[in-house]
Amino acid sequence: MRAPLQQIETSGELPQSADAVVIGGGIVGVFAAYYLARRGMKVALVEKGRIGAEQSSRNWGWCRQQNRDARELPMATRSLDLWERFAADTGKDTGFRRCGLLYLSNDEAELAGWARWRDFAKTAGVTTHMLDSIEASERGRATGRTWKGGVFSPTDGTADPSRAAPAVAHAILMLGGSVHQNCAARGVETEGGRLSAVVTESGTIRTKLAVLAGGAWASSFCHQFGFRFPQASVRSSILSVSPGAEGLPDALHTARISATRRGDGGYTLAISGRGRVDVTPQQLRFSSQFLPMFLKRWRSLAPGGLQGVRSGHETLQRWRLDRPTPMERMRILDPVPDRATIRLTFARALELLPALRKTTISAAWAGYIDSTPDGVPAIGEIDPVPGLFLAAGFSGHGFGIGPGAGHLVADLVTGSEPIVDPTSYDPRRFDASVWGKVADF
Ligand SMILES: Cc1cc2nc3c(=O)[nH]c(=O)nc-3n(C[C@H](O)[C@H](O)[C@H](O)COP(=O)(O)OP(=O)(O)OC[C@H]3O[C@@H](n4cnc5c(N)ncnc54)[C@H](O)[C@@H]3O)c2cc1C
Repeated sequence: MRAPLQQIETSGELPQSADAVVIGGGIVGVFAAYYLARRGMKVALVEKGRIGAEQSSRNWGWCRQQNRDARELPMATRSLDLWERFAADTGKDTGFRRCGLLYLSNDEAELAGWARWRDFAKTAGVTTHMLDSIEASERGRATGRTWKGGVFSPTDGTADPSRAAPAVAHAILMLGGSVHQNCAARGVETEGGRLSAVVTESGTIRTKLAVLAGGAWASSFCHQFGFRFPQASVRSSILSVSPGAEGLPDALHTARISATRRGDGGYTLAISGRGRVDVTPQQLRFSSQFLPMFLKRWRSLAPGGLQGVRSGHETLQRWRLDRPTPMERMRILDPVPDRATIRLTFARALELLPALRKTTISAAWAGYIDSTPDGVPAIGEIDPVPGLFLAAGFSGHGFGIGPGAGHLVADLVTGSEPIVDPTSYDPRRFDASVWGKVADF
């Protein structure tokens, strides 16, 4: 089942040339195209399915600095401002609100970890409040329980995954860019060792600059021109319930369950970090590089099935540019949710938040979360194809930092002062080992 998503009508004929082509209409691709178009560039965005229909509509909607790795914190902070600025500049509603995020726990070790992060965050100018037992129990009163402690991060927030990417795509159109749905990019052409065109199923766009924001499909696309991008995805299952529960926090995390208020007044419910690994040829190829990540997270992972192989996003196949590719056979990655996880999530949510007993499940879905070996995205120019920039591997954090990532991509593409230091995101870093460098969630 697909996650709720606003549909938008997009451009017709493909342009023959563009100043820049963006491949992929998830939150990263749309923001990259938006910031390029704002600089007066003629931008064409091509999306093989529908804008936002893969990870970017399937997530919780959290836009957080809380517990962020040091490598991503500056981008998270800038992104919160950019979510607000986007609404002010365009008048478009992504559902972003700084509602604050509430974390509750009865585990001393977890609370100590949050306190350590609070101390680190202070050095980066980020405010977060540790809650003692009385404060945590008061903020978490909807649970009817006493908590040992918690954290409240007042400057964090949520945006609405069902409308954010379409809203940004609409803004690209208003700036004179074009957005093409049901239009897969099959590959790239080069001239004199540099990018010269993007080849799509509907024709070729001549361009010297392109961005590959293909989410879970990025590595198999890079494989076509021999760039080794270690990437693997995990299937995460999630559900939403109808409106009707009052008095709950807007965004709540506990070890057993997380709940997020949706734009329609319902809630999204999920178990943090839990996922199934649907083994694919690509995962086997990169398995040794993902070992440190796996050792850190294996407790929340379970073996999956053959869905990943059937989906084709992690194929090692090489395809031709004049024939349909796996991307045209799978317009929208729509994995089947894990039924046991959905049942467990709902049962835990009813137990923790009794007000949810007035609600019913309105939808359940899954998404493939694409990750890099160190859990930090890959953003930067790709060596074998100068002019082509990679922006993928957002490792479960890409929705909240989508605006900052898109801005950074536009900075790199245009050679402008980068909004944040891009060093940590360099796609070439995977030539070295990631032992000891895996980010927390
Ligand atoms: C269950 C779940 C919960 C999550 N919760 C959060 C959260 O609370 N906060 C947070 O920050 N992040 C969260 N995430 C992660 C977040 O959703 C992703 O990191 C983010 O959406 C990635 O955006 P993207 O644009 O890189 O990829 P995607 O949204 O996957 O978009 C990539 C797009 O590229 C298109 N594409 C691929 N190849 C081609 C091609 N060759 N030609 C044309 N189009 C192509 C695809 O069709 C797709 O639409 C969650 C993810 C999941 C699945």
